Amino acid sequence: VALAVLGTATACGALPGTSGGDGADGAGERPLVGVAMPTTTSERWIGDGENVQDQLLALGYDVALEYAENDVPTQVEQLEQMIADGADALVIGSIDGVALKGVLAEAAAADIPVIAYDRLINGSPDVDYYATFDNARVGVQQATQLLQGLGVLDAAGEPTGATGPFAVELFAGSTDDNNATVFYDGAMQVLRPYLASGVLTVASGETDFTTIAIDKWDPANATARMQTLLPLYASQRLDGVLSPYDGISRAVIDSVKTLGYGTADQPLPVVTGQDAELDSAKSIAAGEQYGTVYKDTRQLAEVTVAMVRALLDGAEPEVNDTVSYDNGVKVVPSYLLTPMVVDAQNYRQALVGTGYYTDEELG
Ligand code: BGC
Repeated sequence: VALAVLGTATACGALPGTSGGDGADGAGERPLVGVAMPTTTSERWIGDGENVQDQLLALGYDVALEYAENDVPTQVEQLEQMIADGADALVIGSIDGVALKGVLAEAAAADIPVIAYDRLINGSPDVDYYATFDNARVGVQQATQLLQGLGVLDAAGEPTGATGPFAVELFAGSTDDNNATVFYDGAMQVLRPYLASGVLTVASGETDFTTIAIDKWDPANATARMQTLLPLYASQRLDGVLSPYDGISRAVIDSVKTLGYGTADQPLPVVTGQDAELDSAKSIAAGEQYGTVYKDTRQLAEVTVAMVRALLDGAEPEVNDTVSYDNGVKVVPSYLLTPMVVDAQNYRQALVGTGYYTDEELG
């Protein structure tokens, strides 16, 4: 729905070149948009960068796209360079949600509007807009999917009466990424009553956000944590794993396979995920990863590019949420897109039917 609305808005708007926009540095110059993305180590961010870049180029803007490989000083340097190069707007997928305060002050001093992309930037007054998915809902969806996979909830999300106990372990994202806390809070809202009643048990006892967080969302760090947990499940079955991101999900699955999981006698635990990365879509198709949360990064790019365009045209970007994302200094006006739950039942329709992947890619 959002796509259609925004698509229409884009199609009806004036072309940047004809808007007389003063975003450009001088007459006849095309506006320059700096796009800073966190890393190329995860597939989704590569797609994000390409989508944003392509859509900005199609509008006739110049684009400086940079990836910081999860290194905060690198991202700060890249942003400083964009400001020095005369960027007219910045789109930032941050690594650390609070580390950009200084460089954003420089952007503000140069009158450069800033859009936080996917991840909120905290502690700075100089974040103008935020384009993301409904992250709290992502967490709720992940936890609900875990409970459905275990048979505690039915397909409609209603309790089945199953009492378990089901042995689960919980993973969270990187503590420096604001989203990680939001996903965790959303998930725990759903899981807490089942942990309290004993329907779910956690043999490690580890449920606090900081204890289960995986630094930089790095699958290698998830593997390392999983190695420390596996001895707990040598004589007890592990039924499920709350995983916040597909890269972590696949690391978890690979780890439990070393314990002999993944056979008819000893099926894999129910493992959730996020991003519908191609390898995870294939894993779902193969009956390994239980599910994922699909966030169409083309839509996120479209929302973001519409914001950039409005700002460069001196208009007000469209938002649909002005309450949820307080960055500690201000509530950042946001556009929240809707995430979608994907599993073995609907992955082909959800991912191929929408053109996110082709049948050939999925294999
Ligand atoms: C994004 C997720 C992604 C994670 C790891 C989060 O900020 O919202 O989609 O899985 O970062 O890259």
